[in-house]
Amino acid sequence: MDLENLEKVLENEPKYRLKQANEAVFKNFISNWEEATFFTKDLRDKLNKECPLEIRASVLVSKKEDSVKAKITLKDGFEIETVLMRHADGRNTVCVSSQVGCPLGCLFCATGKMGLKRSLTSEEILEQVVFFDRYLKKENLHVTNVTYMGMGEPFLNYDNVLKSVKILNDYKYFNIGVRSISVSTAGIIEGIKKLSEESLHINLAISLHAPTDKLRRELMPIDKKYPLEKVLKAVEEYIEKTKRKVMFEYVLIKDVNDSDKHAEELAKIMSRHSGIPPKAGNNHLYFVNLILYNDTGVFKASDTKRVEKFREVLERLKIRYTQRYRFGDDIAAACGQFATNK
Ligand code: SAH
Ligand code: SF4
Repeated sequence: MDLENLEKVLENEPKYRLKQANEAVFKNFISNWEEATFFTKDLRDKLNKECPLEIRASVLVSKKEDSVKAKITLKDGFEIETVLMRHADGRNTVCVSSQVGCPLGCLFCATGKMGLKRSLTSEEILEQVVFFDRYLKKENLHVTNVTYMGMGEPFLNYDNVLKSVKILNDYKYFNIGVRSISVSTAGIIEGIKKLSEESLHINLAISLHAPTDKLRRELMPIDKKYPLEKVLKAVEEYIEKTKRKVMFEYVLIKDVNDSDKHAEELAKIMSRHSGIPPKAGNNHLYFVNLILYNDTGVFKASDTKRVEKFREVLERLKIRYTQRYRFGDDIAAACGQFATNK
């Protein structure tokens, strides 16, 4: 798909034609300009030639059919991965990539191993959602949620990410509510600050993964530049400004960050920064999202017993947490497993 020339092709047409064209792509999800019958045949032909809508992708469906992974080839040949997760409650969540690869090199992450090739344009981010909206259209369904948790660090591509968020949220186009859009960061504090100043309050998730700087920087080199204290302060200010909940992601890695002591230290961070002693029923705005480690060949996932113990400690200390459902194991479609060789 390439809409770079769209304005140029329509420059001699009345203004509303551009709006119609954008609606056809981002609301009605047409896959060929032939479907845009409100345009003349000549114009449709010209659009097909100069603004092709075809998305080059290969698709893998998981055995349970609850997740679908698409590998999309971009104009310049780079590839990105994106996943559709079909929840039992009817939500259809797309996990989008924001960069080709990632410069932050977290040890447990397959994308991190690729290094950064380049950032995506806002159109390339949207293309991933368009792809699955076209896919779901056949069943009269549509994408209901979008998470920026695929390849790349969204806050190192802030402007394009925000531009794409605005179009996803726009009622004229995708019409996805801000509460159904989430962005996850490894802790780029400038991004957290900027987001708190936006009028669009989407959900924010912080990749924590370790309760101390000593351990965190072994796993996530970015911790050296943005230590925990600074990240947590930025989050505190974000909550102060937005009054929105913040999710702290914690991937459980065997014998690395999954002991009872780690859970206690994590609880300490969560309760200190909630501003309220962590009593049952407290409606504070910090919560932990436990992620089962998806094996990328470096570490091992914590075993079920250990995960239970870890949860028990959080429960005893009245820390709010959720555990992420595991989608698409068989097609390497889970968090942190996104990587391509191009
Ligand atoms: N760069 C951003 C967003 C993309 S990663 C970030 O790091 O937050 C989305 C989530 O998947 C992050 O919480 C990330 O730490 C986690 N993740 C990375 N590798 C993983 C793996 N192998 N198993 C489970 N989760 C992983
Ligand atoms: Fe980049 Fe996120 Fe992977 Fe770290 S976990 S390397 S920040 S994509």
